[in-house]
Amino acid sequence: MLERIRIVLIGTSHPGNIGGTARAMHNMGLADLALVAPRCEPLTADTVSRASGADALVHEAHTVATLEEAVADCTLVVGASARSRTLPWPMITPRALGERLPDELAAPAGRVALVFGREDSGLTNAELQRCHAHVHIPTNPEFSSLNLAAAVQVLAYECRLAWLAQPASGEAPAADEDGQPLASHEELEHYFAHLERTLVAIGFHDPATPRQLMARLRRFTLRARPERMELNILRGILSATERQAERGDDG
Ligand code: SAH
Repeated sequence: MLERIRIVLIGTSHPGNIGGTARAMHNMGLADLALVAPRCEPLTADTVSRASGADALVHEAHTVATLEEAVADCTLVVGASARSRTLPWPMITPRALGERLPDELAAPAGRVALVFGREDSGLTNAELQRCHAHVHIPTNPEFSSLNLAAAVQVLAYECRLAWLAQPASGEAPAADEDGQPLASHEELEHYFAHLERTLVAIGFHDPATPRQLMARLRRFTLRARPERMELNILRGILSATERQAERGDDG
């Protein structure tokens, strides 16, 4: 289970926090680290010092340019946020997140990403809207923001508690009832792009006055946790709508 949990750090600016994250992960048995557009050299003397022997995780980390690339194969993407946002999104507690993991990862091809933001500005709204849910570590509301590696430590600990609480692997719960794989992040992003194209083509959506339409449709779709097959049906409907709209234009 733990090997299918990825820690994603976006735009990190202090190598020490990357080292601290590697240590926190290795302590809790996590190993999959992705760095999205780091704003510092990831591997420095500070990294090695704060990693205290866990720097192999940084050597093996994947560095990519965008969040999409980092989580393309993930079926559940959870953003860690110190603040609440303008458009409310499904929120889970760190404990509830841990409790969801065994079932989530029992599903075929299940893979989970926990996404952390920049030290100075956290995650952007666009990044948060790419997540199925947000997790907030309950802190003093007057001083709510943890150090990045400390936030990783808290969530990695919850992952470990959930893993330790599992029955022996032989008794693990079966995959979801009908065994259908959930849509991956990449499939969802293709669907959202197709949806937006179609809504523009039929004159329902004007990107110049978005009124949070796409954000609301994202939130709705992500809440439903569609299977790959269900997303294929929706894309089929979009394609038919596009063809119909083209025919209408011709006529
Ligand atoms: N100043 C930033 C917070 C940066 S802390 C802001 O106001 O948004 C760096 C990252 O650590 C955050 O983006 C978030 O992913 C994580 N983090 C810090 N405190 C957290 C908390 N209380 N709950 C969840 N994640 C937190």
